[in-house]
Amino acid sequence: MTSADQQALATIDLDALVHNVGVIRERSGGAPIMAVVKADGYGHGAVPVAHALLAAGVRELGVCTLEEALELRAGGITAPVLSWLHSAGADFGPAIAAGIELAVPGPAHLPAIVAAARAQGAVAIVSVKVDTGLNRNGVTEEEWPGLLAELVRAEADGAVRVRGMFTHFARADEPDHPVIDLQAERLRKMAAEARAAGLELEVVHAANSAAALTRPDLAFDMVRPGIALYGLSPMPEAGDFGLRPVMRLSGRLVRVKRVVAGEGVSYGHTWTAPADTIVGIVPLGYADGVPRVLSGRFDVAIGGELRPAVGRVCMDQFVVDLGAGSDAAVGDEVVLFGDPRRGEPHVQQWADALGTIHYEVVTGIKGRVRRGYIGGERHIGGKTGNNL
Ligand SMILES: *Cc1c(COP(=O)(O)O)cnc(C)c1O
Repeated sequence: MTSADQQALATIDLDALVHNVGVIRERSGGAPIMAVVKADGYGHGAVPVAHALLAAGVRELGVCTLEEALELRAGGITAPVLSWLHSAGADFGPAIAAGIELAVPGPAHLPAIVAAARAQGAVAIVSVKVDTGLNRNGVTEEEWPGLLAELVRAEADGAVRVRGMFTHFARADEPDHPVIDLQAERLRKMAAEARAAGLELEVVHAANSAAALTRPDLAFDMVRPGIALYGLSPMPEAGDFGLRPVMRLSGRLVRVKRVVAGEGVSYGHTWTAPADTIVGIVPLGYADGVPRVLSGRFDVAIGGELRPAVGRVCMDQFVVDLGAGSDAAVGDEVVLFGDPRRGEPHVQQWADALGTIHYEVVTGIKGRVRRGYIGGERHIGGKTGNNL
């Protein structure tokens, strides 16, 4: 047993990722896909995930920050990349030089992008991010007429090319909610006004995962899913849509020992062995993204069987009650979450126990967890993809 064998591992199944692209494509009526790979691909590794998605026919990529966009370029990705969250004071030069498409989410951004484009001697490709009701980032209705005039001028001056317009839904996970249609209607109106003013919008888009899966009528020119690509349902109560979880979090038993009835286990002795039993130590803790508030509230799969984690989750480790008759041994694999079709716990169980959504769990895996990739293309970013 080498130390690498005992490491905490997030196994990323690129075949599942490709399967999920197919599910989205089918449900959204075959619309082209901009895959959202922000936050390091929702914790799955932005660059390898992006390569696999592009190989599966995804057309464009979406990220939050300029740094995330440039990381994709550094990882050898040449496909269109849109970055949508930055301040007007950001350094747009490197992104423009790298051909990153920039969202214009407010009037102050345009002059900054124009100045950066001039300094680069390049044309900045931009998409207008319009606020149609989320009331978060994006151009407001009040700002729109003034900004539209500025966009027309900047394009005429050759500083920018206004390629697209997009918005983000507030309540897409409630597919019948009237605010979805209200937002879509406002987007249509603003896109029509842009076109009437002479901007040749090539792409208008709105649909996140929930809308892509349930409202093919709102696919516009392209859908923009994130979480569904990673195999997690944006509406867990509505079912899994046939999606397959892409991340599987596992570790290996580093110690197996007897505990006699009445002995307390882990800090604070929050769990006491009700009978003589055997426990196992798993080397993942809250420093790795296993939240301490999950203490005593999750199961793991060992040898195809579910066993309860008991006592406090510590910084580096937690304890599993293997049961008195267990023949589990040091080195045995312990699955914290993965695919329930293989008898593994689903990350949704963690989200329920934590009172949050699975997005927060998968983006929160960190610390000593190493990523490994299985399936997909043999070559990812110049390295072999299958390094397990
Ligand atoms: C995160 C994000 C998405 C993807 O949302 P999912 O719910 O993960 O599909 C799409 N568009 C924007 C603007 C986002 O910030």
